[in-house]
Amino acid sequence: MSALGSKDCPLRVAIIGSGPSGFYAAESLYKANIPVQIDMFDRLPTPFGLVRGGVAPDHPKIKTVTRVFDRIAAREGFEFFGNVAIGRDITVDELKLFYDAAIFACGAETDRRLEIAGESLPGSHTATEFVGWYNGHPDFRDRTFDLSAETAVIIGQGNVAIDVCRILAKTLNELKDTDIAQHALDALAESRIKTLHLIGRRGPVQAKFTPQELRELGALEACVPVIDPAELDLDPFSQAEFEDPHNRNSQKNIATLRDFAGRISTDAPKRCHIRFLRSPIEIRGAERVESVVLEKNILEGEPFNLRARGTGETEELACGLVFRSVGYRGIALPGLPFDDARGIIPNAEGRIIENGQPLSGLYTAGWIKRGPSGIIGTNKPDSAETVKALLEDMPSLPPCPRRDSLEMARLLLDRGVRAVTYTDWQAIDAEEVARGQGAGKPREKFTRLAEFLALFGK
Ligand code: NAP
Repeated sequence: MSALGSKDCPLRVAIIGSGPSGFYAAESLYKANIPVQIDMFDRLPTPFGLVRGGVAPDHPKIKTVTRVFDRIAAREGFEFFGNVAIGRDITVDELKLFYDAAIFACGAETDRRLEIAGESLPGSHTATEFVGWYNGHPDFRDRTFDLSAETAVIIGQGNVAIDVCRILAKTLNELKDTDIAQHALDALAESRIKTLHLIGRRGPVQAKFTPQELRELGALEACVPVIDPAELDLDPFSQAEFEDPHNRNSQKNIATLRDFAGRISTDAPKRCHIRFLRSPIEIRGAERVESVVLEKNILEGEPFNLRARGTGETEELACGLVFRSVGYRGIALPGLPFDDARGIIPNAEGRIIENGQPLSGLYTAGWIKRGPSGIIGTNKPDSAETVKALLEDMPSLPPCPRRDSLEMARLLLDRGVRAVTYTDWQAIDAEEVARGQGAGKPREKFTRLAEFLALFGK
């Protein structure tokens, strides 16, 4: 048989997950300039992962990256198998029959827990659920959020926490011409939330949000940021972090926070209090959330490695809703090793590792490889690293026996799985855009699996 990656024996790769890391892995494979066939799988009928289901609806510019992904999908030898879950419809062992290599780029689908009492009370939600809900993700379509309380507390100070805060703070006018799911827009129209608390366990220098996202909180139609200037007094270690010339994000954030703290109080209908050095230690309520108990922290450790330590001093903050936005977490995929402590697939430069040894032909990229950090662009070099490892290994990979994507399509059909092709997706896309037009929205998403499949008469 000809060598893998030659004209007679193109390299056949399965990419599992069609978010940024999956598409950037495909792009890197095409850049290698060898004959390659890529089948990309996604358990959802739609591609693009968090670009569709995570990026906030009022951040349309970030979503334009899908044009890059469209161009990748148009390359020769690219097939999309949407609505196909690896581990459910096709096993990892079966993938090995059809592909010389597989790259698992399936992201971090669940969330970290706080592990505190009351976390599961009605009214306490993860940011993941709320974000999925307002973005029309089918998994979260039927969640309900009681927005009748006046006060909501958001735990965590990353960009997701800011997204949650901003969506709760915005007026209907600010959201109506975004691609926010209509069911969320309807519920937010009835929201009575007036007071938001954005709570960080460490100080303002350590907050994870990026400067632009923080600045947006100061430019909302009906909500003003509120900060007690004393919250911005820095301990010596935080001061050292702040003065580090490489710490531009923190310097910009502190400038913005000082600007917020210096603003004259207005009679804006909504307020977002930004507070630092407080950890939730309990969520209280008889039937549902009534308050959060926060413990005051101090920081200890060395600059850039400062940890929050509770002081024992507590306060109880009355609220009717809590959103826990303390980071995403990967989930194990049947047939692959999993590092439960880190919530990732164990790997070395993208090669999946079990018992200290790389598993032949199996690779990983994106959040399930490195953990849930970085922006969309961070996935480009990350996926390139994985593909580099794969190409280095190529001479020693045994060619898979079943070398035709049509065979995969037939197998899925035999199993009663209705795979969604990229052409199908383009039809869904056009239909969504058309549905949005009447309301002045860029698109009105389909949000239920049955709706997608009904489009194709299934
Ligand atoms: P993140 O940036 O890691 O932020 C998580 C936050 O939760 C941090 O403030 C963290 O505090 C806090 N936290 C963690 N465990 C906690 C606990 N037990 N108690 C209290 N607080 C706790 O994660 P994320 O906001 O989910 O975002 C994930 C990634 O997506 C990030 O890289 C983010 O930049 C990116 N993203 C980007 C955009 C954008 O570009 N517009 C939008 C959304 C998301 P510590 O710092 O103390 O750990």
